[in-house]
Amino acid sequence: MSLDYALLRTLHHRLRMLTDLDERIQKGPRKVKIVAANEASFLNALESAKQNLLELRKASNAKQMQLSEREAKIEDLKTKLNVCDSNKEFQLLKDRIAADEQANSVLQDEILEQLEKLDVLAEESDTAKQNFAKAEADTKALSAKVEIELKELEAEKKRVAGELAEAEKSIPIDMTVEYRRLVTGLGEDALGATNTETCGNCNQTLTAQTVNELIMRKPVFCKGCGCLMYLPEGFVSAK
Ligand SMILES: [Zn+2]
Repeated sequence: MSLDYALLRTLHHRLRMLTDLDERIQKGPRKVKIVAANEASFLNALESAKQNLLELRKASNAKQMQLSEREAKIEDLKTKLNVCDSNKEFQLLKDRIAADEQANSVLQDEILEQLEKLDVLAEESDTAKQNFAKAEADTKALSAKVEIELKELEAEKKRVAGELAEAEKSIPIDMTVEYRRLVTGLGEDALGATNTETCGNCNQTLTAQTVNELIMRKPVFCKGCGCLMYLPEGFVSAK
């Protein structure tokens, strides 16, 4: 049996195209997954920034309420100054008011500090909102792009698979089972080019007998990787 190496070259080329198309088909959704994960992490950041802002606002409101209560209490004590029975009581009251006012001043400082921190957190929350909006838009844009690409790649794959099936019809009948077995097991590496020195797939060195068989266009399988070997286009035997 004499094999048509041009046919094997065509088959190999189509098999490689299909592998390449499969890789590209998988690549797009993988990229989408990455940007979607990015978007999810920006959403997390936004939620925690919002939560921090909310908690600090609550704490700040509570502190301001506490301050007004304590200020009202001081006012109350001040009215009592006018109705003191003794100097001693008056002095005690004065001392207490002074101490309370001191405590309130500390509280006021704390409130100011909280307000400054609130500004920072509000800014952080705004930034987180913008980051998330951008990530969300990125995911949407990439998903749309990948969807279009996928359609094109699937159409291309269908076309190449059709060409492959057409070429496979020319495989000699007694080779079809072997060919199918090889393709199932090795994919595009079912076939391998050789320069008559080594296998193009696995670099196994060819024996002189193997080279002779190749030149006679016999079905030759690589002893290293098992592929069905063929000679390159335009190969001229030295013999
Ligand atoms: Zn090999």
